[in-house]
Amino acid sequence: MRTQVAIIGAGPAGLLLGRLLERHGIEAVILERRSGDYVLSRIRAGVLEHGTRELLNACGVGERMEAEGLPHEGTEICFDGVSHRIDFRALLGREVMVYGQTEVTRDLMAARAASGAVTIYGAEDVALHDLDGSAPRVTYRKGGASHELTCDVIAGCDGFHGVSRRSIPADKLRIFERIYPFGWLGVLVDEPPAAPELIYAHHQRGFALCSMRSATRSRYYIQCPEDTDLDAWTDDLFWDELRRRLPQAVAEALRTGPAIEKSIAPLRSFVAEPMRYGRLFLAGDAAHIVPPTGAKGLNLAVSDVQYLAMALAEHYRDQSNAALDAYSARALSRVWKAERFSWWMTTMLHRFPAFSSFERRMQVAEFDYLRGSVAASTALAENYTGLPT
Ligand SMILES: Cc1cc2nc3c(=O)[nH]c(=O)nc-3n(C[C@H](O)[C@H](O)[C@H](O)COP(=O)(O)OP(=O)(O)OC[C@H]3O[C@@H](n4cnc5c(N)ncnc54)[C@H](O)[C@@H]3O)c2cc1C
Repeated sequence: MRTQVAIIGAGPAGLLLGRLLERHGIEAVILERRSGDYVLSRIRAGVLEHGTRELLNACGVGERMEAEGLPHEGTEICFDGVSHRIDFRALLGREVMVYGQTEVTRDLMAARAASGAVTIYGAEDVALHDLDGSAPRVTYRKGGASHELTCDVIAGCDGFHGVSRRSIPADKLRIFERIYPFGWLGVLVDEPPAAPELIYAHHQRGFALCSMRSATRSRYYIQCPEDTDLDAWTDDLFWDELRRRLPQAVAEALRTGPAIEKSIAPLRSFVAEPMRYGRLFLAGDAAHIVPPTGAKGLNLAVSDVQYLAMALAEHYRDQSNAALDAYSARALSRVWKAERFSWWMTTMLHRFPAFSSFERRMQVAEFDYLRGSVAASTALAENYTGLPT
């Protein structure tokens, strides 16, 4: 088989890139290791930046998001029981959209199926070849048979554990990484949220987050040690611990029920530079990871593929490689700012076992400054709702 762009991975990055390329009349085939149902079963991000929302609308997949999503004009930051609301609308005239990653993925899958563009699910043993030449190839197995896809360009959108980044010779990549000594234990429940907006809470026992996916489905997280045994956390234990870490009024308003999903996510900051090797371009989690505290992971995947789609459009339309050559630097400039923000939010709000009394005082001072300064609150709002692309 031959195509113009071979996309590895049908997560948000791969599916949105496929959609954007389709709008530019560029053909792409997506190869996904898992089934479509499996991809849709992964509960992940839920907060869309202002620009992500605009892009989804601009490429014709925003209708359900606008009807069912929850626009949020602010968020609450709590520190040892003291609350400070960041008012996005008042500070910047903007808002974010709460709409689950699973729903974004579902909408993109439906649009792709309707347009007849090819997605091959269950593609096993995907391997990338001849990346540094002019005719890259991808091989894979499906239904017991071997297949080959030739193309002009490969987009590596296959997440942190995918094959794309690993196909780049180690001496051509620079890796920057921080692994945090804790994770997030998350519970999804079919109950209305405890509060109308997200609540990020610092507490002596550890961080907690009240989030939601819809008006009737809530997502809660508590910071947990990195070696936590998921099975040891019954629903009751989780709710008791969450209540302890929330302001009293929120704890009292919390509506609990049986967990419909429970999982532990490790926290990591990671960047691989550059985001290109020959004809392979990395996008999304394949190139970088942020701790979820700043709600940036999915949004970064979106801005990467926005840049990549524009660069590929220029390549095919004007026979120019200028934007493709600038892709990595352009994407990384935004990636590093989101890395900084996610690291900063994580550092201010979590309990770090090894922190000294000085570092704990720094956390208090960060929150105090945020509470007392319109400039500091505006900076948070600007980063949270999304820096310009
Ligand atoms: C448990 C968890 C919770 C998260 N929570 C949040 C959150 O609350 N807020 C937030 O902003 N972000 C969150 N994130 C991050 C966010 O979900 C990611 O940043 C986002 O999914 C990135 O999209 P992507 O398309 O780059 O990668 P992915 O969504 O990982 O998609 C990659 C796709 O490639 C496929 N693939 C992998 N290897 C291969 C291969 N060899 N061949 C073919 N296909 C392959 C995978 O099956 C997958 O479908 C979370 C991530 C995780 C793991």
